Amino acid sequence: MQPAFTPTRTAALERLQAFVPKTSAYASKRNYDLEGHPHVSGLSPYIRHRMVTEQEVLEAVLGRYALSTAEKFVQEVYWRTYWKGWLEMRPSVWTSYRAGVQGALNRVQTEAGLRAAWEEACRGETDIAAFNHWAQELVETGYLHNHARMWFASIWIFTLRLPWELGADFFLRHLIDGDPASNTLGWRWVAGLQTKGKTYLARPSNIARYTEGRFNPEGELSSFAEPLDGDPHPDRINPPMPESWDRTAPTGLLLTEEDMSPGYILGSSFKPATTAALLCTDKRSPLATSPVVENFTAAAMDDCLVRYKESFNDSKGLLPNLDAIENWAAKAGIVQIVTPYAPVGPTAETLSELARRLQPKGITLIRALRDFDTEAWPHATHGFFRFKEKIPKLVGRLKGLKAA
Ligand SMILES: Cc1cc2nc3c(=O)[nH]c(=O)nc-3n(C[C@H](O)[C@H](O)[C@H](O)COP(=O)(O)OP(=O)(O)OC[C@H]3O[C@@H](n4cnc5c(N)ncnc54)[C@H](O)[C@@H]3O)c2cc1C
Repeated sequence: MQPAFTPTRTAALERLQAFVPKTSAYASKRNYDLEGHPHVSGLSPYIRHRMVTEQEVLEAVLGRYALSTAEKFVQEVYWRTYWKGWLEMRPSVWTSYRAGVQGALNRVQTEAGLRAAWEEACRGETDIAAFNHWAQELVETGYLHNHARMWFASIWIFTLRLPWELGADFFLRHLIDGDPASNTLGWRWVAGLQTKGKTYLARPSNIARYTEGRFNPEGELSSFAEPLDGDPHPDRINPPMPESWDRTAPTGLLLTEEDMSPGYILGSSFKPATTAALLCTDKRSPLATSPVVENFTAAAMDDCLVRYKESFNDSKGLLPNLDAIENWAAKAGIVQIVTPYAPVGPTAETLSELARRLQPKGITLIRALRDFDTEAWPHATHGFFRFKEKIPKLVGRLKGLKAA
């Protein structure tokens, strides 16, 4: 098993083009986890970093099929948007998850049995062949099929009885598409913390069917999934609003792994005085992020900087840390930095720290929201069912928005 994702926008567009004709069969085949994952798009590593945007993906698919034909795929793309909007309005769920990871890692230090079980699970050395396969597939390729993610998380929580936060942390360290919203809330959903009282139980017959017999863990899995205890959902805060900024003032552009298509910020009326990039992949976890993730993201950022170089006056490229970014900003003679809006997660936390450091220097940090997010996120008020009803309207408005 090799990492199968070339970290360029060209590769993302090729993958999208190859997938579009498969959209009509997606609803009936997407649940099959087969070698090579022929029935799903494999676009998540690219969408996650917005090397190709949700809007571009939706427009490509809806350029060929009616919404009724492509409905299931369109809904899946909007699941990502929904989770993001949900977490934006309840950021303390991310903070609690982070505390939960730290707490569980502390337990691992003192409880030898837990430590051994956790290490066996992460290495794929349990008694469950299917689970071991997925653990190794994840580590080697940086990707897992959605159904495998659900089975894996369910077995982790209900059969191996390991803390869910350690499983989510394992995913976040190894998934190229590792995403604070989709991952944390995906794990919470399996555990019964997201939709209260509703858990996801991995069943041997379901695994055998949707792997076409590659695996059949009959008798190896828990046959019940008792929801985990957790706090009620926090009260909703307001979703973020677009900030206005002066495009004529001396401005720096800061790129991060959250959005590698800054074309919606750049344009005829704005060329940044100076540009730099920062990656926060190392902050996904207290433990080391996988080299598969680090290498993909660094190469993807290089690709982004090359693609947009004509739009920059001066580019310092990828800088190693926040100190270097602070230094760059202080020396550049700029009054503001504009950066693609980073949703809840390590990048947003790092940007908050940067804003704090820049304030005494008289430099403001502007987080530029995409219209796509501004329009959709406020609808993530309740469950996905209610959000889903807004999809036709959201899709109908895509034409007026900037795609990349
Ligand atoms: C426990 C668990 C953890 C997950 N962690 C992540 C994560 O860290 N990052 C991540 O991007 N997705 C995550 N997902 C969602 C989903 O598994 C992946 O987005 C999907 O498997 C990506 O593969 P694909 O691009 O081939 O998907 P496709 O089926 O081709 O779907 C197209 C796109 O729709 C979006 N999408 C599809 N299904 C979902 C979903 N259930 N939730 C949110 N978005 C979805 C993705 O952007 C995906 O690229 C998780 C799901 C579970 C159950």
